Amino acid sequence: MNTLLAHDRPHMHIDLGVLANNWRTVRRTFRGQRVGVVVKNDAYGLGISQVAPLLWNLGCRDFWVSHSTEALKLRGLLPEHSTRIMVLHGLGGIAPEDFAAHGLIPVLAGPHELHQLQGYGSKHGQAMPVAIHLDTGLTRLGFTGTNLHLLHDSRLQTDIKAMIWVSHLGRFSHPDAPECLHQRHTFAAWLQQLPPAERSITTSSSVFANPAWHCDHARVGSALFGVQTAAQYQQPLQNVTSLYAPVMRVADVPAYTEVGYAGQYRTSQNTRIATIAAGYGDGLPISLAPRGVLYLKGRPAPIVGGIAMGMLGLDISAFAPGEIQPGMWAEIYGLHQPLAQLAATAGITPNALLACTGALALRRYMSPHSGQEPLV
Ligand SMILES: *Cc1c(COP(=O)(O)O)cnc(C)c1O
Repeated sequence: MNTLLAHDRPHMHIDLGVLANNWRTVRRTFRGQRVGVVVKNDAYGLGISQVAPLLWNLGCRDFWVSHSTEALKLRGLLPEHSTRIMVLHGLGGIAPEDFAAHGLIPVLAGPHELHQLQGYGSKHGQAMPVAIHLDTGLTRLGFTGTNLHLLHDSRLQTDIKAMIWVSHLGRFSHPDAPECLHQRHTFAAWLQQLPPAERSITTSSSVFANPAWHCDHARVGSALFGVQTAAQYQQPLQNVTSLYAPVMRVADVPAYTEVGYAGQYRTSQNTRIATIAAGYGDGLPISLAPRGVLYLKGRPAPIVGGIAMGMLGLDISAFAPGEIQPGMWAEIYGLHQPLAQLAATAGITPNALLACTGALALRRYMSPHSGQEPLV
């Protein structure tokens, strides 16, 4: 059975040629030495197995993931040599020796992880390479102003070798916000007291902001995947992903017909309803009903009758009889309805919508030379 051909569930189209272009745009724009790519959460739902080797082939040698499971998977996908994998959640209770054995670099989450590394140098005859979170205002991970002094201890340097100092912005989508400028100032002030290492505070939005944000190392996710994270900067990034779901049935129903569970919608006149194979089990937020629309033949059709686990209804009365047929594809997001627009309708962020839907859809990859045609 060739499930790739099945029109019974959502398909995500991922244009790897566009992703490569977005990488080139980021690489051109960033003035620091290294662009690291963030491929946490299965590359934001696009599939780390395809995305990471592509970026490696384009010259990327620094990869950031959330946790050790992702890191081990990634290690198996990339050539060992000269590729660094940073684990944003830190040691997470795993022995530092295990990180070292796989060449993984934990981003230390706070003082408790320093304790785990005490004596590492004398035991192994060398310091453990680590990155270190500095909590300059997000209040999430890292050393704070009150325990920063623990990193000043020169005895530490026999146990750990700090490779990268990492800080993350609370208001990343507004790098000009006074809170962000304050975080940047704090980062710079703290670094003056710490051993020299790469400095990393830039993410997608600040790559395209004032170059004062560009330190040594950028950690970039969203921009590669075509997701705009900054409100005020026009980013020359292109859309990478489109999500489609098939029409399963078309029915003409009279006025006063209940559509969906518990009579969530009742027709007020003769209405044509298309049933679509996509629901919350595919990552669609239930908040898309009743405000959202999907696109058929480039035209919007309102969602009616709520979002079920694997199906939803569209009012297609505005289409000509017979124009919409089972097996046709509705665009959930893509060319006609940008991801960000649908996410805004649902009241969530574009990344939240991308990660959930990408994780659950059947993913189809297109390179510029694959000759694969889009569905609609
Ligand atoms: C997710 C994440 C990033 C990537 O941010 P984008 O806005 O997607 O580029 C960078 N750093 C940290 C710590 C993150 O959690």
